[in-house]
Amino acid sequence: MKILVINAGSSSLKYQFMDSDTHEVFAKGLCERIGIDGRLTHKVPAKDQKFEAEIPMPTHGEAIQSVLDALTSPEHGVVKDVSEIDAVGHRVLHGGMAFTESCIIDDACIAAIEECIPLGPLHNPANLMGIRACQAIMPNTPQVAVFDTAFHMSMPEKAYTYAIPYEYYEKDKVRRYGFHGTSHRYVSARAIDMLGNPAHSKVITCHLGNGSSLAAVVDGKCVDTTMGLGPLAGFAMGTRSGDIDATIMEYLMGRYGYDIKEMLNILNKKSGVLGISGVSSDFRDLEAAAKEGNHRAQLALDVFEYQVRKFIGSYAAAMGGVDAIVFTAGVGENSASMRQNIVAGLEYMGVKMDPEANNVRGKETVISAADSKVKILLIPTDEELMIAQDTAELVKK
Ligand code: ADP
Repeated sequence: MKILVINAGSSSLKYQFMDSDTHEVFAKGLCERIGIDGRLTHKVPAKDQKFEAEIPMPTHGEAIQSVLDALTSPEHGVVKDVSEIDAVGHRVLHGGMAFTESCIIDDACIAAIEECIPLGPLHNPANLMGIRACQAIMPNTPQVAVFDTAFHMSMPEKAYTYAIPYEYYEKDKVRRYGFHGTSHRYVSARAIDMLGNPAHSKVITCHLGNGSSLAAVVDGKCVDTTMGLGPLAGFAMGTRSGDIDATIMEYLMGRYGYDIKEMLNILNKKSGVLGISGVSSDFRDLEAAAKEGNHRAQLALDVFEYQVRKFIGSYAAAMGGVDAIVFTAGVGENSASMRQNIVAGLEYMGVKMDPEANNVRGKETVISAADSKVKILLIPTDEELMIAQDTAELVKK
């Protein structure tokens, strides 16, 4: 089926138009500066074609219209008519406890996404704007929502319960949800395939990008993950702090008179490896600066590696072993040194890297040594493909 995958943010909208069976990507692109002025970048991979235009986009409606115009344009289009788009799959950040899997978008689904707005206040309203714009412009095309949180809903109670008064869970739904679920689902399924589809499997997936998280996956089901109620939790990221002692907030708010918004802005936007290094949130810049002897850049890399390694160890303990460790996303797919340093010291667990095999980027590869008890895998993530496949499956039903 031909599926249009939409990932709507508050001022941007990414799209990919693809075949869910052959995996061919017909076109992909990005609308930026929605609500400000508007810019479209549209690419047609088969023709190596790139089209850029300034198009007024006061709302997500105009952005979606510009995507459909590009997809049907005589010059750089890939279909003759919008009716050739079989369905639309939307990435939605927070599905709360309501969604354990993807679903066809109807009034009940929209109401449930709306109910999750307090849990995903930045993303869910933007996701809904994308959904509503598509409904208005292509009312006869089926739409599906695919949630970042859904894969993690299989976590057991002991993994998602915070040690705070239980009434906050009961009354306010405060619990661990986790994110990047579509990516963890895709790469863990690929990993189980690469392990030869055993009856039982224990996999740790490391999604290391700008935002990062780990998941522990037993027999294809998530049993724990590092992000929490929101995406600030876990380990140090590009600009997010990961888990910290909550006392730090009270201490700094008292000393500097920050209100909670300012404090959270610091923890979300100015912390992580950027905060430690003062250099950059981009791991390429950090690796370059560290090579030139910048201590804080090296420290930021050390902290990141150390924290990821600790979570790998704790997930192996939680699962009672591990068959495969998977690296994915920007850092995980591209930085051989980061992968090497993260697993260094895990030899006692039977984790042994093959440095030559590890010298690779963005390609599905086994990077562990032949005699490693635990397979180390590099698997490029493909959230769009997962969304397209979920969408096709639900629409066919
Ligand atoms: P997002 O979380 O925004 O989807 P990505 O998964 O695309 O991010 O990851 C982006 C990050 O990947 C960049 O910030 C950069 O730090 C990192 N990255 C990309 N290429 C490399 C590389 N060759 N070496 C190290 N890090 C890289």
